[in-house]
Amino acid sequence: MIDALVHLERCDDPTRAAEQAARVGVSAMLCAGVDPRTDRPLPPLPASPEVHRAFGIHPEAASERDLAEQLAALARRLDEPGVVALGECGLDAREGMPPKEIQVRALTVQLALAAERGLPVILHLVRAHARGLALVEESQVRAGVWHGFAGPREAIAPAVRLGLFLSVGGLVLNQRAKRLREAVPHIPADRLLVETDAPELPPERLVDVVAEVARLRGEQPIDVARRAEDNARAVYRR
Ligand SMILES: [Zn+2]
Repeated sequence: MIDALVHLERCDDPTRAAEQAARVGVSAMLCAGVDPRTDRPLPPLPASPEVHRAFGIHPEAASERDLAEQLAALARRLDEPGVVALGECGLDAREGMPPKEIQVRALTVQLALAAERGLPVILHLVRAHARGLALVEESQVRAGVWHGFAGPREAIAPAVRLGLFLSVGGLVLNQRAKRLREAVPHIPADRLLVETDAPELPPERLVDVVAEVARLRGEQPIDVARRAEDNARAVYRR
């Protein structure tokens, strides 16, 4: 299995988290960034799972005052070894998040940077997917991951047309997450990813996400795991 998105450095014990993931069959994971100025380097990790990296300015970290500095740091960190994507980046319309204009500016600049570098993006789109997809469409980016996909079903086709993969995480385990659970069977098999967003969910619980996604799609967990693994290798080109 491949975990399409984790924040390993935010886990209490990243080494142990990686070991536990390996024990349940996670062969690789993508460790995404939040703020390129402060994202910590990873401690020494076991040989398995493979850990690939992404850096980006998360919408929660987008700052009017610091944006130039954040972008300069991002440009440097994208040169680090093992970087396969730009992210997280995106829009989050929940209360307490930075003003929308700043989030839009940060996302627009990052989309241009990803296109320039030929990197896929990892999108965090919360209560703002229409605007987010419109910004992707206006950019040159045509490869990426919509992480923490929460539905709706109607957003799948436009996202797929833009070259995006839909990554399903721990929300699917919540019986009340009707919009997502109803959308899961409609994700094309060649665009489906799974993630834990660890520490949101402990990395070894990727097994539970796979099992629930399989149940909702009427498929076998092993088939979902293999598909999602092939898809992760395709989008991250690893
Ligand atoms: Zn996110």
